[in-house]
Amino acid sequence: MSQIIFYGAGEWAQDNLERLVNEGIEPLCFADKDKKKHHTFITSTMEKKYEILPLTLIIERYPDYTLYLTIDEKNHKKVVSYLKEQGIPDNRLNFLGRQKRIGCKQLGKTFVVDGDFFRICCPTTPKNLKFFSFPHDNLNNGLKNYNSSVDYLINCHEKGDLGPCEGCSNLMVGFYECKKNTKMDTILFCNYNWSENICNLKCIYCRQYCHHERSHERPVLKDIVVQAAELFNNSNNDIIFGFAIGEFFARKDADEILNYLSKQRYKIRVTTNATIYKESFMQMLEQGKVYRINTSLDSGTKETYEKIKKRDLFDNAVENLSRFSGKCKQLHLKYVIIPRINDNEKDFEGFLNIACRIKARIFISADYYELKNRIPKDTLNSVILLYNKAKELRLSPILLKEHFNFEDRLLLEHELKL
Ligand code: SF4
Ligand code: SF4
Repeated sequence: MSQIIFYGAGEWAQDNLERLVNEGIEPLCFADKDKKKHHTFITSTMEKKYEILPLTLIIERYPDYTLYLTIDEKNHKKVVSYLKEQGIPDNRLNFLGRQKRIGCKQLGKTFVVDGDFFRICCPTTPKNLKFFSFPHDNLNNGLKNYNSSVDYLINCHEKGDLGPCEGCSNLMVGFYECKKNTKMDTILFCNYNWSENICNLKCIYCRQYCHHERSHERPVLKDIVVQAAELFNNSNNDIIFGFAIGEFFARKDADEILNYLSKQRYKIRVTTNATIYKESFMQMLEQGKVYRINTSLDSGTKETYEKIKKRDLFDNAVENLSRFSGKCKQLHLKYVIIPRINDNEKDFEGFLNIACRIKARIFISADYYELKNRIPKDTLNSVILLYNKAKELRLSPILLKEHFNFEDRLLLEHELKL
């Protein structure tokens, strides 16, 4: 019988350890590449401890080992090629029910409430698969519809059929969980900044509805949040309430919604430009109820920030980000690369200094509304430079490949060995 070793002692492992053990997959220990983790322990919520060891020691100590990959899907390709370089044969790897196939990392994870519609994925994806309207009346029906749509699409992808996703930049070959293990973990509220709640910035790449009046009656965000909180109360999943696309803190009812959610069992994640200080949000941070903050800073100097955001609020954003630092599990800082505006070393240096100071993870993106157009060669070289500098600083940069033109993506994957 093979000896089960979990490979990868990061966040995914910590989040899934309990579930795997409950399903009868219990490791003898963990293996990980990171030397700093060696001979430390991962503890399950049952207070059981699992030691983290170097791969060489595992091979020596456990001759019948099988490595179960306890890592996030997005890192599978990189980790598998690393393990192959270390001489680990294919038959010693177990993907924990995940299959190598065409698929989408968003699919089945996030139920999107997008202003008028329920969606199965973020409304910024080119396909815009909307399938139900007016959520405030029909949240329950919308969820049923969501689940059957997700099942249908995963079925298509498992058969190698792209289905309605054909042409979407998020569709990629990778390692994906099979249908039965795919669990929704987030309800994401998007595009809620209509009429009096518009965003306080005017980013040059913003194409959201936030700067436009809507002509018809819209659902009340607080009402949908309350309905969702009540609906998920009996669910076994830990659902995260997310707010994205549009500036949540610019809403007049943001405090009311945050105060409500702070009394519920859910954690939240927020995409914010970080220029508006909210005491109610700081309180949720202090309570450990903020899972993730995403901010696009896109610059490292005040001058460039103002060119992109059309407001002189760089210092406010940096000050608030510093307040957030260390208080939530994931602080994500994004750099949307814009040719001739922020693709320069001075901005990169400023941006990386801030990221190091606030201990943020870096995400590098292109303007995803311009997917049809390639970015200039020198700007692509700047992306490579920024990525490598972030890597040298151990900021674990992520290139948002799906936000790049397909040919640019191939070139970047090749140059960065992704
Ligand atoms: S591939 Fe695109 S369209 Fe299909 S589920 Fe994923 S994001 Fe949506
Ligand atoms: S901060 Fe976000 S919502 Fe506001 S203008 Fe910029 S991109 Fe648009």
